[in-house]
Amino acid sequence: IIRFDHVTKSFGDNTVLDDLCFSVESGKHVTLIGPSGSGKTTILRLLMTLEKPDSGLIRVNGGQLFPADEKQRREVRKRIGMVFQQFNLFPNMTVLRNITEAPVRVLGLDKDEAEQRARELLELVGLSDKTGAKPSQLSGGQQQRVAIARALAMRPRVLLLDEVTSALDPELVAGVLDLLRDIARSTDITMLCVTHEMNFARDISDEVFMFDGGKVIESGPPERIFTDPVQERTRDFLGAVR
Ligand code: ATP
Repeated sequence: IIRFDHVTKSFGDNTVLDDLCFSVESGKHVTLIGPSGSGKTTILRLLMTLEKPDSGLIRVNGGQLFPADEKQRREVRKRIGMVFQQFNLFPNMTVLRNITEAPVRVLGLDKDEAEQRARELLELVGLSDKTGAKPSQLSGGQQQRVAIARALAMRPRVLLLDEVTSALDPELVAGVLDLLRDIARSTDITMLCVTHEMNFARDISDEVFMFDGGKVIESGPPERIFTDPVQERTRDFLGAVR
């Protein structure tokens, strides 16, 4: 479970999250939609502990992420994985090493075990033949598949996806979305996605949260949000992205 309780976050005098409260139940797939700058990425960055809230409480998997001491935060953080828009692979490491690095360093797996798991994941994402390649030798879609495998290697209970297809060439988007759809269907990982791909959101989400002005202004199952939004701002937003 993910829970934000009265979370506020500002950058200078720009209040990005304003007394934000929401929760995502364990195993659910939630998509965050809303205008650019509404704070969606900031929510994912808080969960990755890449940012700190100014006030409020953030809990994940029964542990507290904020406020918390460093040790406690690291424990909670270990079971949260993220896939970024720009892949963020380690450029000088092979594909295999990109995937084994964190399980070895952070979880303390031995190297053989980590490699075996990495090979299974590379098979899952369709890249068994690329173990020795460097990221620069791969297409954007392949790099994003490696990033997905890397996130899964940590056996996360929560997976955060930030606009994972927006840096991809159009012909590579469908393959990555199909892969994520399969993962969403076949695992019990809690997923929190930020996306502009409304069809993907509709397909994989149990629930959609519409953000605006630092708050969730509307939430519900995708069938309702996309066909019969209550809020005018949701209607305007959906009208603009379609
Ligand atoms: P998009 O859909 O364009 O990615 P978003 O809803 O994800 O938008 P955020 O990236 O969370 O929005 O950004 C929310 C606001 O916070 C923006 O106005 C952005 O400029 C600002 N912001 C984000 N990170 C920082 C930072 N490190 N320093 C200053 N301002 C920031």
